[in-house]
Amino acid sequence: MIQTKNKSRIYLSPPHLSGHEIKYIQAAIDTNWIAPLGPNVDAFENEIARYIGVGGAVAVSSGTAAIHLALSLLDVKKGDSIFCSTLTFVASANPILYQGAEPVFIDSEPETWNMSPEALERAFQDASRSGKLPKAVIVVNLYGQSAKMDEILSICNRYDVPIIEDAAESLGSTYKRKPSGSFGKFGVFSFNGNKIITTSGGGMLVSDDVKALNKARFLATQSRDPAPHYQHSERGFNYRMSNILAGIGRGQLEILEERVLARRIIFSKYYRELSDLPDIHFMPELENTMSNRWLTTLTIDQKGAGISPYELIQLLAEENIEARPVWKPLHLQPLFEGTKYYPHSDLHNVSEQLFTNGLCLPSGSNISEEEMMRVVDCMKHALKPKAYRIIQ
Ligand SMILES: *Cc1c(COP(=O)(O)O)cnc(C)c1O
Repeated sequence: MIQTKNKSRIYLSPPHLSGHEIKYIQAAIDTNWIAPLGPNVDAFENEIARYIGVGGAVAVSSGTAAIHLALSLLDVKKGDSIFCSTLTFVASANPILYQGAEPVFIDSEPETWNMSPEALERAFQDASRSGKLPKAVIVVNLYGQSAKMDEILSICNRYDVPIIEDAAESLGSTYKRKPSGSFGKFGVFSFNGNKIITTSGGGMLVSDDVKALNKARFLATQSRDPAPHYQHSERGFNYRMSNILAGIGRGQLEILEERVLARRIIFSKYYRELSDLPDIHFMPELENTMSNRWLTTLTIDQKGAGISPYELIQLLAEENIEARPVWKPLHLQPLFEGTKYYPHSDLHNVSEQLFTNGLCLPSGSNISEEEMMRVVDCMKHALKPKAYRIIQ
């Protein structure tokens, strides 16, 4: 059993309410708008669309549901293939399976840890040669860092294949001053409890294609035809967000910029304290981009450090600190065994290296100075140069 020394638990990324949520929830209760949909939902959708600078938004029950709706709108079905970042949470790819389609996983590149344009190009060349292009490309912005969108857009536009931007982790980030989530045919956000802002559970689908978004609303409410009786001509889903949860979202959106700033400061503090250690490399930030630094993430040179991320996570756990490895690449998941995968290059398998060496540190915007120092001390102690450790 892990001995936690009675210290309070430091979580990876817990919810952080603003205090403003209650006024929107109260308004919903006062007006009896408890059922799905209602004024908070409409307002939350408009506020997000304005913030991202897109034509519209549809509030749904999860980020996963938003990805599923995007694939449905693009008419993805059995036999189709979808290119998808491999270094991500399984939710990016599960909806591909819901549609009976086949994922093809694309490796990361070292500058952003996100989809490698080189690997993507090779995947497209092969697909083009075999006469079967993918129906869509799902591009993930990992831990808040935008992918190389110019390069990826240029490839996808050349093949005329739409992008679904999985911005679940990157709300509040920008790429060349443009908001994350606004680059694809569809953008997806998540308001799960661990994300930069939360509705306890929820998601948002955004797009400039207002017609498609109206179709998404229809699909997400059981595809109910306009008729006085319950009539349905199409398969539908129950994916809409409740008016209560949208109220939480409105209260959270008010302070999004503060939360981004807080997470960036947390990153800077970790950087200041730990970047001098010889075997640590922080996740880079691509030039001309601003990451929300959802999670402070780094890699450890195991040979030099003499310790693996797993051992470090164990040591942190003994201090009652929650740390996590980097996402396990989807092409390594048993669920996707045998799935096609394009590495960054013949010699360079970037996502697998990041998985082997990567570590995410507690990064909640409500972490205290004292808590951060507990994490820093533990890291410094574990990563002391070996010779020094022996002399001591
Ligand atoms: C959280 C997350 C999702 C899914 O969001 P849910 O709201 O939990 O369904 C999708 N993609 C990525 C990259 C995520 O981190």
